[in-house]
Amino acid sequence: MTVDVQAPILPADGSKLNLIGLDREALGRVLDELGQGGKPRRMRIQQLWHWMYSRGVTTIEDMTTLSKDLRAALLERATVARPEITKSLLSVDGTRKWLVKWPDGQEVESVFIPDDDRGTLCVSSQVGCTLTCRFCHTGTQTLVRNLGPAEIVQQVMIARDALGEWPSSPDGRLLSNIVMMGMGEPLYNFDNVAAGLKLVMDNEGISLSRRRITLSTAGVVPMMKRAGEELGVNLAVSLHAVTDEIRDRIVPLNKKYPINELMQACRDYPGLNNARRITFEYVMLRDVNDSPADARALVKLIKGIPAKVNLIPFNPWPGAPFERSTPEAIKTFSQIVFDAGYASPVRTPRGEDIMAACGQLKSDSVRQRKADLLRREVDAAFAAKDAAAVA
Ligand code: SAH
Repeated sequence: MTVDVQAPILPADGSKLNLIGLDREALGRVLDELGQGGKPRRMRIQQLWHWMYSRGVTTIEDMTTLSKDLRAALLERATVARPEITKSLLSVDGTRKWLVKWPDGQEVESVFIPDDDRGTLCVSSQVGCTLTCRFCHTGTQTLVRNLGPAEIVQQVMIARDALGEWPSSPDGRLLSNIVMMGMGEPLYNFDNVAAGLKLVMDNEGISLSRRRITLSTAGVVPMMKRAGEELGVNLAVSLHAVTDEIRDRIVPLNKKYPINELMQACRDYPGLNNARRITFEYVMLRDVNDSPADARALVKLIKGIPAKVNLIPFNPWPGAPFERSTPEAIKTFSQIVFDAGYASPVRTPRGEDIMAACGQLKSDSVRQRKADLLRREVDAAFAAKDAAAVA
């Protein structure tokens, strides 16, 4: 999409514009259109920025350092309101999940996972997903639309609202890390994800370091380099299988970007070294990809890449066509990878009781229905998406 820089930024119908998600340049245009540009323009942009992204205020009224005139003008035409939170769930293990509703009625889920030494927010990049990874609940949903930069940063902001974490402080944060591992494929919505993450990383705002942000991809090979160059964030790759035969089946994107191309893109990822490793994610599916031979093949595949391997026990969802690997199989697999010199932690499923664990996110009502009906629906959903992809 090309943006006409001359077009007004304030809505023509007189309705209010939400300022969250705007960068400095766009805020400047808002000021100009309100007749509030002039000489203090730069300072005003800075003040707005500070109130929005560092102090986290949710109303213009609270921006007490703005001049009376400016505040009055903004009140007429702008807001810094949050989206509606339609559901807020707390797991027995402390994990929280929010169902967030955007003004157009579309919904996504975000998940906060507290640990002893960190707190990780799992952020969505799309409403639904174009991919059809067979073990993923979101994969049964079609892509409804991409999220914009505002909707990426808003997920972080509502989490910080709930955690009481304003204003931004350099240390002791509850929300210390972000993973782009919610609904959607971030590299199929790169421009918006990049703009949103730049707002999250901005030093005068939320100020979360790129070292604490991980972008996860199912393997959109042509976009991986840009993610490294433009954002410098950590990369996670959802590998899940060591042969094209199996990966074609469970991560159909593999037919487009097969394993050897994916591995080359990993080797070429900018800024890799032993302190900045690629995380390979590997969902443990019983009798599908979890044998000792698979583990040995995995080690061969990633040889020479600074890497760690996250083993994710499969998280079931209604109608899912897989089972979780046995604890013994997972342990053996992990040991083989570890003995080859790679960290190979097994990810403890978090928030299972609220359907917040990896691969369980989905924003509709399907999950309430009967299992066999669901199984058929799941098959049909995958078949329909595959057919659409071929067409
Ligand atoms: N599309 C991106 C971002 C989603 S990340 C990607 O594929 O990487 C979600 C992570 O959870 C991915 O590693 C995904 O493979 C994994 N996952 C999906 N469904 C799962 C399930 N049912 N159980 C465990 N992990 C799952």
